[in-house]
Amino acid sequence: MKCPKCGSENVTVQMVTETNLKREKHGIFWWLCVGWWWLPIKWLFFTLPALLVKLFAPKKYKTVTKTKSVAVCQSCGKHWEV
Ligand SMILES: [Zn+2]
Repeated sequence: MKCPKCGSENVTVQMVTETNLKREKHGIFWWLCVGWWWLPIKWLFFTLPALLVKLFAPKKYKTVTKTKSVAVCQSCGKHWEV
């Protein structure tokens, strides 16, 4: 495999697991405009039902983990998904 940035063949491929429960990061501008009303609404309509579902049907739902391959160039440090 060749590095798309520097063309080096010195590339290693790693398996990376990632969970779908990611924390979102927002800037101060997002909080001023959207965050203060969006989060309660989001919580009310998405998190609360999800919690209820989790409470009453804990075996049906689980966190989704997926595995992806990430190639890392040893020469320039670029990494990308395979
Ligand atoms: Zn490279």
